[in-house]
Amino acid sequence: MEGDTKVIVYRLGANCDIGEVEEGKIYSGKVQGFATFGAFVLLNDRVKGLVHKSNIKVRHKEQDPILVLVRGIRPNGNIDLEEVTPSVFHTEVVVKKSAPVRLKDLQRSIGRVVQIQGEVSQVKQTSGPTIFTLVDGDGIASGAAFVEAGVRAYPEVQLGDIVSIMGEVMQRNSQLQVEVSSLAVMTGDEALHVREEIDLTLDIRAEPPELALLVESTVLAALVPAMREVARRIRKAVFMGQPILVRHHADADGISAAVSLEQAVIALIRENGGDFDSGYFLFKRAPSKAPFYEIEDITRDLDFSLKDLVRYGQKLPLIILMDNGSTEEDIPSLRMAAVYDLPMLVVDHHHPDEVVDPYLQGHVNPYHVGGDFGVTSGMLGVEIARLVHPSVEPLVRHIAAVSAVGDRSEAPERGRYLALAAENYTEEHCKEIALALDYLQFWLRFNDGRELVKDLLNLNGNEERHRALVRHLVDQANLAIAEQVEASMPHVESRMLPNGVHLFLLDVELHAHKFTFPPPGKTSGEVHDRLIQKNPNLPVVTIGFGPDFAVLRSRGVLMNIPQMVRELRQEIVGGGVSGGGHLVVGSIKFVEGMRGQVLEALIGKIGGAPVQPR
Ligand code: MN
Repeated sequence: MEGDTKVIVYRLGANCDIGEVEEGKIYSGKVQGFATFGAFVLLNDRVKGLVHKSNIKVRHKEQDPILVLVRGIRPNGNIDLEEVTPSVFHTEVVVKKSAPVRLKDLQRSIGRVVQIQGEVSQVKQTSGPTIFTLVDGDGIASGAAFVEAGVRAYPEVQLGDIVSIMGEVMQRNSQLQVEVSSLAVMTGDEALHVREEIDLTLDIRAEPPELALLVESTVLAALVPAMREVARRIRKAVFMGQPILVRHHADADGISAAVSLEQAVIALIRENGGDFDSGYFLFKRAPSKAPFYEIEDITRDLDFSLKDLVRYGQKLPLIILMDNGSTEEDIPSLRMAAVYDLPMLVVDHHHPDEVVDPYLQGHVNPYHVGGDFGVTSGMLGVEIARLVHPSVEPLVRHIAAVSAVGDRSEAPERGRYLALAAENYTEEHCKEIALALDYLQFWLRFNDGRELVKDLLNLNGNEERHRALVRHLVDQANLAIAEQVEASMPHVESRMLPNGVHLFLLDVELHAHKFTFPPPGKTSGEVHDRLIQKNPNLPVVTIGFGPDFAVLRSRGVLMNIPQMVRELRQEIVGGGVSGGGHLVVGSIKFVEGMRGQVLEALIGKIGGAPVQPR
């Protein structure tokens, strides 16, 4: 041992017994007494060993400190010691090995030194200590480790590692924190065991509650397993401290779906103790401009998430796409997400393309079970929100009705959700909320407008302000729509198609105001609404077009817009055709120079579509 500067001398803690003594290690002790064959040495008040006289190096008297090497521990508990005299060494205290305290029980250990184990869900470097957030399946806690102000402690610890921390439990403001005195990355069987235990706890805990649906619905009933799977994954993410990002279509239905889920996730984050910034540290909601998850969206999301990973040591998020995400157009973004192994869930009611499914961990879509877009994303969002945290039900259930009128659902579920909300929200009021949401979102652009949107959906508990805000936005929106429609209507051209469809065409680029509400898609919709009123009982298709796009609305025609788009893309070489939407409502993009050809080909297909029998 001579000259070895790394010699460690262990001092047994007061509670330790023979179980904590290891062969081959050096301990500090105290000479207790002598016998003819050697000296007895106490390693602490309860553990005693014997140094044979041949192994004593120095003359001692009783109570002298002594350093001893453990040569062996006999089956009967006798410990054979040998005196050692290293010139340089440092001392470490051996703490009694005890069962680790579960993170949810830390509250009971304030002021005590405990051992905790779990998976590292975040490593954040502050200007003072390094904060390690641990999760163990049913609790979350943070440990503060300090080496030097702003310097990363335990740099070997990685996100996702299983670690064991020893330290004192302190109350810091409203948060519990363990002052780390030692932290070790667990490996091998030990780590595996902890991980298995976490998984087991999580699986049980992440299971959503058994709830009946809010309304009777064969489609929703058939979707229960898929909705439970999505809810289970969301709950699991919350329990593991994984951030959640909800991306949604920027219309009333998309907002309804996402905000309902937002309420439930925030409630669960708070309940789970991840109460940083009232839960919004781990949750983000963002509207997507396009009716699909654009490359622009995933690029932003990855940019922020990867920076958060580096800056805050935060896990990559679970992404949930709502009211979009289930079509071929989403593929480029889904593939980009796959590069970074971002888990993806989709809750949508657009006609799904099977190609998306290999990229998704969960996909709720009424088309999977024989339903259609009449079951709105908002209805799905409200039902899933209840499975994530049932307490939000009274707060959010009217939102399903808002989404139903917002997306003009004609499914039987529409009336049932409206009936459920009827006591406090009339159908008219729901329509107004939906319109106000569309109008507000137009001006919010890429922002989520969290608190404004909550006021519009009456989630902030201020009924008076809710009513006043809805009233004002609806008045403004209606004024803007009236102006737009007044300017547009005289420019609508009509044609009679071979199948008896009345086709109406409007150049929304030339005959509507730009960069204001209502945007081209909604302008066409408003024009369409007036045209079908003027032409009751007739099959009607309205096409609003600009230089490089067209939006379609229809009534009484059995079209399949996604299918038409696919055909046009193949048939018109150099047309640059893309798009999609629902079967009978959708949008198409093309290159400006090919507009004439694309539109004529599209009209040809509409003229060949079967008309719904009246
Ligand atoms: Mn929708």
